[in-house]
Amino acid sequence: MYDIIIVGAGPTGLTAALYALRANKKVLLLEAKAYGGQIVKASVVKNYPAIKEISGFDFAQTLYEQVMDLGGELKYETVLKVNEDKSVVTNEDTYQAKAVIIATGVENRKLNLEGESEYIGKGVSYCASCDGALYKDQVVAVVGGGNTALEDALYLSNIAQKVYLIHRREDFRGEAKILDELRDKNNIEFILNANVVKLKGEEKLESIDVKIGEEIKNLPVAGLFIAVGQEPKNEIFANIVDLNEYGYIETVDEVFTKIPGIYVAGDARIKALRQLTTAVSDGSIAATAAIKEINSNKKQIL
Ligand code: NAP
Repeated sequence: MYDIIIVGAGPTGLTAALYALRANKKVLLLEAKAYGGQIVKASVVKNYPAIKEISGFDFAQTLYEQVMDLGGELKYETVLKVNEDKSVVTNEDTYQAKAVIIATGVENRKLNLEGESEYIGKGVSYCASCDGALYKDQVVAVVGGGNTALEDALYLSNIAQKVYLIHRREDFRGEAKILDELRDKNNIEFILNANVVKLKGEEKLESIDVKIGEEIKNLPVAGLFIAVGQEPKNEIFANIVDLNEYGYIETVDEVFTKIPGIYVAGDARIKALRQLTTAVSDGSIAATAAIKEINSNKKQIL
């Protein structure tokens, strides 16, 4: 029997584990893919208080080590179901806990273009900091208008010969400060009010068709970095929590779901701001709530 099972080992889940372990709780982290979550893809993080600059990978790695140093247990298993009694069913086993924290975050949104999945690893990427080096001195494109797309374009401009930044609107959601840096680069070309409509190439990606107004323009590119946001994958929790129309988990208050002892923290829940700061904040709040509840139940039994 675990005190707390945490589903998802991104910054939220790892922070929850950190707090729970420091309160001497028995914790199991379950992760389907790799620890670190979305932040691993950020080439550089410059808006985390008191850390002037850190790569997303270093942030995740340090946090992971901090948790493991405290005796954290992480199993790479896919969670299939969480029950109201706080049992968690994975593809390998079933585990029982006193409290469960859902910290599954979000996944990359696809453009849903024909052949998009087949081109992954052959020109299409969702992670500039992971795959950027493969495109040294080549022409690449980034699609999206949020911070991820802007940071990806900036990162790639230092590696690639040329970067097209393609966005479907005139205005960007991303920070003005990064936009200024992009405008100072002479190898970044903005293509606005435009959508990528076709991927072309034999064995690998060779070019993309971009619709600008009514015109279709073909751009020869070796790589296309898709950074059009994220979406949650919370359907497996629909038996215990309510989801809004976009698939995010509804809470009754902050990280509390309608079922006592089941919490949701981080990007998976409905919230105003999805950032690294709010992710770790949620992890600490959820763990502290779970610890409090477990301790108060123990006192009642005594
Ligand atoms: P985002 O802010 O949701 O932006 C997604 C962008 O993709 C938007 O510009 C959107 O266009 C565009 N888009 C969505 N669907 C599209 C489609 N089907 N075709 C073409 N374009 C599409 O996503 P994000 O940039 O990944 O950022 C997610 C969150 O992480 C944000 O809160 C962001 O601030 C944060 N973040 C923080 C850091 C950091 O702190 N260092 C770094 C990266 C990201 P519209 O604008 O027209 O909707």
